[in-house]
Amino acid sequence: MAAEETPHAGIRTHRPLPSVDIPVLRGDRQASRTRQMITTAAVVAALGSGAAAALVLPGLLGGHGEVRRPGEPAVPVALGAPHHSDDAGSAPLLVLVAQRPMIAAPPTLDGGLRPLDDVTPTAPGASTRRTIPFGHAGGFQPALIAAGSTREESQEVIDALTRVLDFRRCRPEDQLTYERDGAGKLMRFEYRADRTHVYEAVRGSAGTLVGRQVEVPIQRTRVTKGGYVGGSLGDALDHNGLGRSLVGVFVDTFSSVVNFGTQTRSGDAFRVIVDEERIDGEFLRYGQVYALEYTGARSGAHQAFFYTPHDAEGDFFDETGRSMHGGWLRTPVAYDHLSSPFDPHRMHPVLHRVMPHNGLDFAASSGTPVWAAAEGTIIWAGEKGANGNLIGIRHADGFESYYAHLSRIERGIHVGVEVRQRQVIGAVGTTGRSTGPHLHFGLKRRGAFVDPARHLNGPGRMMAAAALPAFRRSARELGAELGRIPLAPAPASANAPTPAGGDGFGDEEEVDVPTPPRRH
Ligand SMILES: [Zn+2]
Repeated sequence: MAAEETPHAGIRTHRPLPSVDIPVLRGDRQASRTRQMITTAAVVAALGSGAAAALVLPGLLGGHGEVRRPGEPAVPVALGAPHHSDDAGSAPLLVLVAQRPMIAAPPTLDGGLRPLDDVTPTAPGASTRRTIPFGHAGGFQPALIAAGSTREESQEVIDALTRVLDFRRCRPEDQLTYERDGAGKLMRFEYRADRTHVYEAVRGSAGTLVGRQVEVPIQRTRVTKGGYVGGSLGDALDHNGLGRSLVGVFVDTFSSVVNFGTQTRSGDAFRVIVDEERIDGEFLRYGQVYALEYTGARSGAHQAFFYTPHDAEGDFFDETGRSMHGGWLRTPVAYDHLSSPFDPHRMHPVLHRVMPHNGLDFAASSGTPVWAAAEGTIIWAGEKGANGNLIGIRHADGFESYYAHLSRIERGIHVGVEVRQRQVIGAVGTTGRSTGPHLHFGLKRRGAFVDPARHLNGPGRMMAAAALPAFRRSARELGAELGRIPLAPAPASANAPTPAGGDGFGDEEEVDVPTPPRRH
């Protein structure tokens, strides 16, 4: 693909990994507090160690605010597998204080009072503590009243939290905690959306409730892993105690050089250096990915290094300093695996005739957010036959992108609306002709369907010359570190990738949108 075909030169921001929520275990708390203190000490040491910290910091400080909230589908991760079995050389580098961890007390649905324990900090003067789910009340105040607040008390809580909590985003499974003194007076109210989004209103010395977001310390540990691929990259990552969510990072990073739909084979190998983020010792999600390697007979050997040049967004670069990305999101969804590649000659499994598959199918849970692959203007937003709920976006340079089988279309996404890259436009579903939840992602160039994996992924730009020497130093170090990672054998039962979420009927995928309205 020629350089001028690059759709546009939008800045690509590093995508935070989808979080994987696992309940906090109470027994680990005390031990992890101690670890936390040790970790904090390690931070100071790490910060003093120059190059590594300089590389790490920008990534950590950049845009890691996305947290999957309860109720949204989580990407499956290997539970119980050791996450630290072979990372002896990877000391915790940094701790970034986000919010304080809170324990979800068992819901006391009967309204009974629960005695205070030493697990969660409690407001001075409070003697009882009670936690109940937000539930299905029609709003924040009704929920508080249903939880036992008087109208006056609920108003007091609202006044205290109105600037820190977005009441419109409350969900039934969110947790409300009341801490009261002996006379029943509310001393502290806590609103817990998930493990990293906790808010409180505490009665201050002035007698009024003061609201704030609670800070939960997140520990970051750098881990290095590598292994051989058996059935699928996802299985291999799983087998090595890594989450399948990292599949998306590999595909996202290497899709300009490796076609993960056709070129991956058993015996391929991967290596990765990545931060694990934990709260009180419990795995929360993957954080910064520092370096990746994928080697295969068909794909060749490739390494990519995350780097944040001065005055630029962090991104993955190859060893020469060329960006791995061409200005588009190559994966408009955090998906589990690529279930069906673009294939103009696909033989229909039942009809035994060639029926092209005019896009990429990304298998993902229903409800997974779908992002605009690049900025553009909505040209279709609604049902369209076999496509189910479909969104079309017109982009620069004659490109149009299509997102089919959506379970829903985001509010405000209408024809004529302009969207930004990575703006959530809808959610994965299985509407229309579809065999399971997946995103069908189609791309047109000047009216004809083209392979998104090829056309979106032209070679990126070279890093500014001034940044190259420092980048190449760090890439050399990371490359050497990658090379030292031992490769674990492939999973014993190397099953073929799970068939999930496809459309089966390629010809029905002919997304053919009527003449789009003029941009206005
Ligand atoms: Zn499809």
